[in-house]
Amino acid sequence: WTTGPASEAENSLRELAALAETAGSEVLDGIIQRRTNPDPATYLGSGKALELKDIVAATGADTVVVDEELAPSQRRALEDVVKVKVIDRTGLILDIFAQHAKSKEGKAQVELAQLEYMLPRLRGWGESLSRQAGGRAAGGEGIGSRGPGETKIEMDRRRIRARMAKLRREIAAMKPSREAKRLNRRRNSVPSVAIAGYTNAGKSSLLNRLTDAGVLVENALFATLDPTVRKAETPDGIGYTLSDTVGFVRSLPTQLVEAFRSTLEEVADSDVIVHVVDASHPDPEGQIRAVHEVLADIDALDLPEIIALNKADAADPFVVQRMRNTHRDVVVVSARTGEGIDELKQRISEAIPRPDHVLDLLVP
Ligand code: GDP
Repeated sequence: WTTGPASEAENSLRELAALAETAGSEVLDGIIQRRTNPDPATYLGSGKALELKDIVAATGADTVVVDEELAPSQRRALEDVVKVKVIDRTGLILDIFAQHAKSKEGKAQVELAQLEYMLPRLRGWGESLSRQAGGRAAGGEGIGSRGPGETKIEMDRRRIRARMAKLRREIAAMKPSREAKRLNRRRNSVPSVAIAGYTNAGKSSLLNRLTDAGVLVENALFATLDPTVRKAETPDGIGYTLSDTVGFVRSLPTQLVEAFRSTLEEVADSDVIVHVVDASHPDPEGQIRAVHEVLADIDALDLPEIIALNKADAADPFVVQRMRNTHRDVVVVSARTGEGIDELKQRISEAIPRPDHVLDLLVP
């Protein structure tokens, strides 16, 4: 739900659906509630809440995701009506960060943000979840269940604050080693390509296009170790890894900015960035700028970058042409129709560093 204008609300809801899918959920239905002011008790008002309850019952949904930040009491009141787990946008995003955080610092930053988010919501969280979502929540499945578990939720506020202080100290102590890491980076034995861009730009669709089915099956074990990394091959047979990175989101809650950056930091360790842009979006240039700002922050702006202008099938050809003219290294693609995918594979192949022995073969 959202309180904004209709088209804005639809865009935001589309992004929310993509976020929920990223978190591993299947999106069953969506409704938009337009109100100037959210209802103080249940956020959406009692009539709409009952309508939602019917949708939940009809679809068999086990979670409701609300596209704005809920007050702790609103979330609880809504759970009481719909009888399934209710999470808000921030909770969903934190869950995705928890999935993506790999480095020690990334994990610490995400835990810190999770605790910060949890602190005011402490009362009733564990209690209402175990009562209503029952086994599902306790089983650790579904969105909103990753990260600090039930036992941590039961810690009293003081212990949480102590943990947060400890995490902050640890994060501060990690800064120097991050510098060192930066100096030593790009020692990948296998070339690595990171796919970055906004949520809903089509990153995972492209990832699927770039790694064909055969490779996926062959690397099933690899995939379970880290679901965001896949193996791919250049047309001339050089293997490389392709990793899906945590997506940018519109209006990221400020309390999540640090966690987002540290989770994205792995991008700086890759050899090539494929920056996926939704060419059918109303402001693709604004999105490119926002991505570049963050890449600059994490020292990844000097890496070879290929801009994959995706959703060419749905985009205005004039916009596509203009963007082709303003940016270097643009490949126009459609993960949906397959347009431009071979060219993208070729460009990646040209951009990745070649292992020395290959160079030896080429140099007479
Ligand atoms: P991600 O959040 O960046 O990983 O984006 P997804 O790969 O999940 O795609 C987001 C949405 O855009 C999905 O509904 C896709 O079906 C859709 N999509 C992805 N690529 C294309 C494309 O080339 N053309 C069109 N029309 N839609 C696409």
